[in-house]
Amino acid sequence: MIGAGAAALSALQMIKSIAPDDEVALVTKEDHLPYSPTALPYLLSGRIARHSVWLREESYFKKAGAVLMQGREVVEVDPAKKTVAFSKGKKESYDTLLIATGSDAVGPSVRGGADFLKFHTLADCERLVQQVQGKKEVLIHGGGLVAMETAMALLERGCSVKVVVRSRILRKYFDEEAAGIIEDIFTERGAEIFSGHSMVALSQKDGAVGASLEDGTTVTGQLFVNCTGVKPRVDFLAGIGLSMGQGIVTDTRLMTNLEDIYAAGDAAEAPEFFTSEAGLSAILLSAVNQGKLAGANMCGQERHYRGWIGVNRLPFFGNVAESLGIGAGSEERFSILKDVNRETRQFKKLAFDGEHLVGATFINCGTNLGPFYQIIERKLDVSKHRDILFDRPFETSIWLVREDERKATHLSV
Ligand SMILES: Cc1cc2nc3c(=O)[nH]c(=O)nc-3n(C[C@H](O)[C@H](O)[C@H](O)COP(=O)(O)OP(=O)(O)OC[C@H]3O[C@@H](n4cnc5c(N)ncnc54)[C@H](O)[C@@H]3O)c2cc1C
Repeated sequence: MIGAGAAALSALQMIKSIAPDDEVALVTKEDHLPYSPTALPYLLSGRIARHSVWLREESYFKKAGAVLMQGREVVEVDPAKKTVAFSKGKKESYDTLLIATGSDAVGPSVRGGADFLKFHTLADCERLVQQVQGKKEVLIHGGGLVAMETAMALLERGCSVKVVVRSRILRKYFDEEAAGIIEDIFTERGAEIFSGHSMVALSQKDGAVGASLEDGTTVTGQLFVNCTGVKPRVDFLAGIGLSMGQGIVTDTRLMTNLEDIYAAGDAAEAPEFFTSEAGLSAILLSAVNQGKLAGANMCGQERHYRGWIGVNRLPFFGNVAESLGIGAGSEERFSILKDVNRETRQFKKLAFDGEHLVGATFINCGTNLGPFYQIIERKLDVSKHRDILFDRPFETSIWLVREDERKATHLSV
């Protein structure tokens, strides 16, 4: 497996449960144990220590009957010879290959230049922790989940934070009203958010970074962190015949167009749940689910992926904002139940397509998205329960899933 993140680790677990004697090697170009990037905001804020980010201990791999090759970068794959080549020259062969190389953070696409930091890997996080010492003003470019997690962590560290975002924060996951509540909370905690502003140029002078906006104003900071998005880490695979969109295109078995090569996680363009069209899903749950399915298929089983569903959870300053499935901008296409309370910072929205639930968004509702995910993925008919699902989401979602399980197993209660 090229990669040792969430996708590769869940593929390993699946392979070992089906074929314990298969030889498995995971290659990571990073010099340390596998970790989850989702823990990095808490390392940045100082809430957790470095050892808490590891997904597995060193001893795990030996016990699992696998080899973890750390600090080894794959620079080439030869599908005809079934080999991978490393940056240091050596080659290894494979029978079956999983590409789970994750994504890279994109750089700022603006005129001029200034030193910029990213927040994507453990190394980025450690660099940021080092650089932020003694510096108080941080300028963040971007308004997605990683940008807002960076803002949250830096505010918790006592920095002053300015966020410049071209449209509005969390546009992909939350509609305007929900994002408005989240923005209120960030602003109350001291963040300055410059929504609807394009950054056109960057400059650096006497330890200060200046970002010129399209309206002629300039926003300054002592550090500049670019969080404007990610792209699959697939450049080293160019020219080998893999079918590529932005990432590696797979079918529902997570197979690529090349024999015995599979892809999963941020690097893959796997089918999406609602449309079945191949698309990127750079979230943890998709990496875990795709890794599992790829692992099963790599062992010769025929298991089909139902497709990824977008799911995001942002715990921040004692609040929780969650979105699942179709959330932002779904008003015209779907039937919506919505309740907004800007005073209490609560938000609830369900989106239905006919008898099916297709989206759920909650802020500070004490819900658990797990059963909602099941309701969507199992395409449960909720037409008779829409109102109660909206009024009492926590209990009703659990009940609906249990009821489906009861019917499926013919148990009577
Ligand atoms: C700061 C941050 C916060 C996030 N927060 C959330 C969140 O709250 N919720 C959520 O759902 N998602 C979140 N994500 C996204 C989530 O972390 C990713 O979707 C997930 O980690 C993807 O898993 P993966 O296995 O595909 O890739 P990764 O976990 O990135 O692993 C990629 C692996 O490939 C290795 N690799 C890459 N190229 C090579 C090569 N050429 N040779 C050898 N090894 C290579 C790397 O070393 C690494 O081991 C966050 C991401 C970041 C950066």
